[in-house]
Amino acid sequence: MTEMAPGGPAQVVVQKYGGTSVGTPEKICAVAERIVAGRAETPRLVVAVSAMGKTTDELVAMAHRVSAHPAGREMDLLLASGEQIAVSMLGLALQDRGVPAISFTAAQCGIRTSGPFNRARIRSIDTRRIESELDKGKVVIVTGFQGITDDDEITTLGRGGSDITGAALAAALRASVCEICTDVDGVYSADPGVVPSARLLPQISFEEAIELAASGAKVLHPRAAEICLKYQIPIHVRSSFHTRPGTWIRGGTTTMEEAAVVGVSTDRNIAKVTLLDVPDRPGVAATLFQSLAAAEITVRLIIQGASSHDRARITFVMDEEFLDSAKPIFERWTSEGFAREVLVDRDMAKISIIGSRMAATPGMAARMFTALANEGINIDCISSTEMKIGCVIAARHLDRALRAVHREFVDTVEDPHAAASGGARA
Ligand code: ADP
Ligand code: ASP
Ligand code: MG
Repeated sequence: MTEMAPGGPAQVVVQKYGGTSVGTPEKICAVAERIVAGRAETPRLVVAVSAMGKTTDELVAMAHRVSAHPAGREMDLLLASGEQIAVSMLGLALQDRGVPAISFTAAQCGIRTSGPFNRARIRSIDTRRIESELDKGKVVIVTGFQGITDDDEITTLGRGGSDITGAALAAALRASVCEICTDVDGVYSADPGVVPSARLLPQISFEEAIELAASGAKVLHPRAAEICLKYQIPIHVRSSFHTRPGTWIRGGTTTMEEAAVVGVSTDRNIAKVTLLDVPDRPGVAATLFQSLAAAEITVRLIIQGASSHDRARITFVMDEEFLDSAKPIFERWTSEGFAREVLVDRDMAKISIIGSRMAATPGMAARMFTALANEGINIDCISSTEMKIGCVIAARHLDRALRAVHREFVDTVEDPHAAASGGARA
């Protein structure tokens, strides 16, 4: 819904459509029809679009056929092309339906990025061109997932990054809402594709959304929720295929004193790294993790265990996608004597329960561990924060673990929003 600013034009609405929602020309036509139908309510509409269907995956696979480790500048130029196809297709579909529309690449409409190729961050958006087109009554369509640096290099934001574009546009244009339009009805208590009994969450706080997303709930990129939290822009995660409400994420939705589990997230794309026989003296851990930081590699969970004879064992969990860039660093660690051996285990996954005051509530961890134990699933590493308890387990057990933990914390609790829960997929 668009609110009229007193005496001024309507506030901007930003809608982001994901890859599945624009997966075929027919689906692009359906999105165009949806925009036409909502035109009266959204006179100033900016649409961020992902690449069609599995285009980005296909481009990655294609790159692997010509290069052992495709990365960097050329990779970004390649990957950014997927979104360019999608925006121009939607532009054509809208114009064909009599709606004035203009599509832009991020570079054409002032989305400035900084940071490394393949993992850039949006630094600023010069909204003048977008606003001038909105003033002419046009729907403005922008490529998600990318931007341009001050050196005129095209960079991408990391996989799933179109959500970030949507959020950044909403913040820069002071939009009334950032709608994340996707192939499910909203944010669920678990991935509805794996857990059929997952519940649609009508409303969650920004903090809960960030934790759910950061621990693997793919439906929303955590950086998008962080931007909207910072600029206090409400997010509405909803279906691309109908107009029923989905999940609202906004401030003031806090459940600070509750210990209820809002959701269970899983992350398959992690790797466990173990360093054997690390010299146990001050500064070693600092040196190790500085070298990862210098390569912009983030680490999720670190465990250091004392071992014998002034030697320690360090285990950490990182995103699998960074393994290629981390490999030379691991080799250096062994050759320079920081570890006798670096073991990498890719077949690990993480399952997390999320809710406010999690760590401070007795019994939550015990219940989670029992649910896993009852399935005969071994826990490899454990982490906990104020809002989250996470367990690293063997990837092959992940779906079974998810259903068991969801059963323990969600299925057995009466649904406070029973009437709002619909089918998982449209
Ligand atoms: P898009 O292409 O629209 O960006 P994604 O595939 O990135 O869509 O994200 C939507 C998918 O996220 C859903 O199809 C669903 O399988 C998955 N998902 C994982 N966890 C959740 C969750 N907690 N709630 C909703 N969807 C989830
Ligand atoms: N097309 C990009 C990807 O597949 C960005 C996105 O879909 O959000 O990762
Ligand atoms: Mg996505």
